[in-house]
Amino acid sequence: MRLRRLEDLGDISGKRVFVRVDYNVPLAEGSVADDSRIRASLTTLQELVRGGASLVVASHLGRPKGQVKEEARLAPVARRLGELLGGAVGYEPTDGVLDASVERRCAELRPGEIVLLENLRFDPGEEANDPTFAARLAALADVYVDDAFGAVHRAHASVAALPALFLERGRPVAAGRLLEREVAALSRLLEEPERPYVAVLGGAKVSDKLSTIGALVERVDALLIGGAMAFTFIAAEGGEVGDSLVEPDRFDDVRSARRRAEERGVLIQLPEDVVAAPERSLEAPRETVPANAIPRGRMGLDIGPRTVEEFARTLSDAKTILWNGPMGVFELEPFSAGTRGVATAIAGSTAYSVVGGGDSLSAIRRLGLEQGFGHLSTGGGASLEFIEGRKLPGIAVLEVT
Ligand code: ADP
Ligand code: MG
Repeated sequence: MRLRRLEDLGDISGKRVFVRVDYNVPLAEGSVADDSRIRASLTTLQELVRGGASLVVASHLGRPKGQVKEEARLAPVARRLGELLGGAVGYEPTDGVLDASVERRCAELRPGEIVLLENLRFDPGEEANDPTFAARLAALADVYVDDAFGAVHRAHASVAALPALFLERGRPVAAGRLLEREVAALSRLLEEPERPYVAVLGGAKVSDKLSTIGALVERVDALLIGGAMAFTFIAAEGGEVGDSLVEPDRFDDVRSARRRAEERGVLIQLPEDVVAAPERSLEAPRETVPANAIPRGRMGLDIGPRTVEEFARTLSDAKTILWNGPMGVFELEPFSAGTRGVATAIAGSTAYSVVGGGDSLSAIRRLGLEQGFGHLSTGGGASLEFIEGRKLPGIAVLEVT
């Protein structure tokens, strides 16, 4: 697979470029609480501006579901983007996404100028992949660039119908630098990864990640399962998991994943011990118990020290590692040791390591271990779908055919 890149756009000087970015950032008290996604887009924006283009930048934020929601406006994002770029970013709160004033503003852009559109999801056409909405967006620019890796797995107008329309009209489209980097890094897990290839999965719900588990069983040499999702595996085999989070309607799915792993000779490693407590709180009394014998009235909130050791042992032999999902309720210090242990083991390994998932990333940042990883993906869902080997609408449209 080869993606169209910025080099493929030709001369962009004097052109207007529509840049789809992922500014789905956390807001707090009217400002951006974590600007890493905005920073991640700067390389592409600056490169396009240096090329003499003007930019129409667009993103979604949150789930306003096709309606204008005051708390989901991009005003704080526009402010932060301006600060980071060291210049003004044109933004006006509209009653929707597009109106005559915004359209005029985009039409009158001069080289180097930047407009940030209002939250794309204020228009129901965005999530509906509506061709009419796409056509209105297409009228704003001459060139299309997608740098929103976190959104490429969705067939939404700004990532699917819009670039398709540009192509139809013979106008240039390309992936931005962030998207290009993500695809290159994640491709290393798909195309003949160095073995052993070990995946570590955690997080709250097994149901969120069943398709990932199913796909990984076909690709990896070992699958280490922590977080709450481990309890569905353990309970499906008759283990006692006390009050831990369990999804009984997924017992059949996890059993068949295990059968398939066995057929393929893939090791599925589950926790041996867990840190259990009566409730998720800082004060709750804790004890380390066998993962398949958690007393009633207690829930497993982290993997235990023996499990950390066992997981670390498997990880130390790995040549390729994928990690998604914390090993416990890492947000609370008493239940963060498992996540810290696994993160430290991966960071210390010489394997090529990739991490996806918002919570996993925030755990790594909190630990200051960023440097120990080969690639920190900016897309949670998108990175999982990519490494499952699925065709993603926002990427397929940018491939050279
Ligand atoms: P990511 O964002 O990295 O993909 P998820 O969103 O799937 O990760 O899961 C993260 C959440 O899982 C965290 O909020 C964490 O508290 C929760 N979690 C992990 N282990 C457990 C557990 N044993 N019990 C309850 N919640 C858990
Ligand atoms: Mg999460």
